[in-house]
Amino acid sequence: MAQATTYTDTQLFIDGKWREAADGKTLAVVNPATGKEIGRVAHASRADLEQAVEAAQRGFATWNGMTAAKRSEIMRKAAGLMRERADEIAPLMTQENGKPLAEARGETLAAADIIEWFAEEGFRVYGRIVPSRGSLAQRQMVLKDPVGPVAAFTPWNFPINQVVRKLAPALAAGCSVVVKAPEETPAAPAALIRAFQDAGLPPGVLGLVYGDPAEISGFLIPHPAIRKITFTGSTAVGKQLAGLAGQHMKRVTMELGGHAPVIVCEDADVALAVKSAGGAKFRNAGQVCISPTRFLVHESVRAEFAAELAKWAQGLRVADGLAEGTQMGPLANPRRLTAMSSFLDDAVQKGAQVLAGGKRIGEVGNFWEPTVLADVPLDARIFNDEPFGPVAAIRAFNTLDEAIAEANRLSYGLAGYAFTSSLKNADLIARKVEVGMLFVNMPAIPTAEMPFGGIKDSGFGSEGGPEAVEAYLNTRAVSVMNV
Ligand code: NAD
Repeated sequence: MAQATTYTDTQLFIDGKWREAADGKTLAVVNPATGKEIGRVAHASRADLEQAVEAAQRGFATWNGMTAAKRSEIMRKAAGLMRERADEIAPLMTQENGKPLAEARGETLAAADIIEWFAEEGFRVYGRIVPSRGSLAQRQMVLKDPVGPVAAFTPWNFPINQVVRKLAPALAAGCSVVVKAPEETPAAPAALIRAFQDAGLPPGVLGLVYGDPAEISGFLIPHPAIRKITFTGSTAVGKQLAGLAGQHMKRVTMELGGHAPVIVCEDADVALAVKSAGGAKFRNAGQVCISPTRFLVHESVRAEFAAELAKWAQGLRVADGLAEGTQMGPLANPRRLTAMSSFLDDAVQKGAQVLAGGKRIGEVGNFWEPTVLADVPLDARIFNDEPFGPVAAIRAFNTLDEAIAEANRLSYGLAGYAFTSSLKNADLIARKVEVGMLFVNMPAIPTAEMPFGGIKDSGFGSEGGPEAVEAYLNTRAVSVMNV
């Protein structure tokens, strides 16, 4: 049984105040484990968006006018509040997104770590003094300034993490941010924004809106006051938004879809590969941009790996994320159920073997069995389109060159994984596999201090490390002749 808990309606946060939309419009929020409406979220009108941008302009002037030390102090206080409130915030996230409570709590606590790291990084927004070629009287300076008010668009799979990865570096750089958070999972990101409010963030520095995604991006991206766009979501939508940003010459960071290859070499520790990649595959029910997806396994260990992964999948406890011991919750929305059915039908029809799972669980909620497919043909849709769900697809390979070529075949280039005990193999894979993030003999452990982002169709820009702050800065050259 899932524990009884409460859920709160979500308002817009504009100019330091929580309020309903100007026209009172709201949308339903549905619990994916029950299919029942649990609350409402305010749906911004154009008037609300205009006010949010005006507030962000004032907020930018205030925030940019404060010292890095003061900004850091407020950010660290917000991090502390996220830690204190993790037990209240996690059930909100589980109810709106479906993920197990422990994952929701982990995401909330990780947000605190991310905010803290960027609070410190804000002290390191350094410029440079460059020696002059012509005269000792000339002082050449490289200055770094915040780019200005930012529009951030975030998806429903990590309701807090996706927001914090944008706003922490933006705030550290001195920018204000209007966040368009996901309508399907609104309460958890609102709790993050509230932590900043309660930490003393001045009005206008952060705004939070929900509504019609296309209408909001269509308003915010071209708006002259908005100087930078950051988006996480599908490659298709990312290309549209980057195109619009290009028309208005706005800076962009795009964190898009992936289709992570997992290369399991003949000399791999198979148990480690199953544990690492299996754990990662079914985390958040596979709705993770860096989720392991194309399992390319050397022919000599293929049968053992496939059998063990199937056993792993069958052993997972799938239930309401609020229930004790749940390891995988429901899919976040009914669109994902439809997508899983279609991937499965297509793969089976093209000759794939179902080793575990393969169908919906029950009729209530969006539950799908942890699924393992073997002998998946290259033309199966699951080997080409991002599944974004709990399905592992396995194929055998004979030579490492063949596996690397397959890893690089798709236009995606976000994350990749490899398992091998050979330094030579690991080095070759590190040099040749075209991904933004590679993990060898381990699952992905993204941290604030490491770059996070993709290449090719998976986007560009980074949401971790010093590069993440750089993405919110303008570089200016100033030369002064001392006459
Ligand atoms: P989608 O492609 O319509 O939406 C993806 C995200 O983009 C959502 O958050 C949505 O609100 C937003 N969005 C859509 N159109 C927009 C617009 N015109 N302007 C601004 N934002 C817009 O589909 P979906 O059903 O929500 O998700 C399906 C696919 O999206 C998944 O299969 C996956 O490939 C991708 N996705 C990726 C991530 C990620 O972490 N990279 C997260 C969520 C979804």
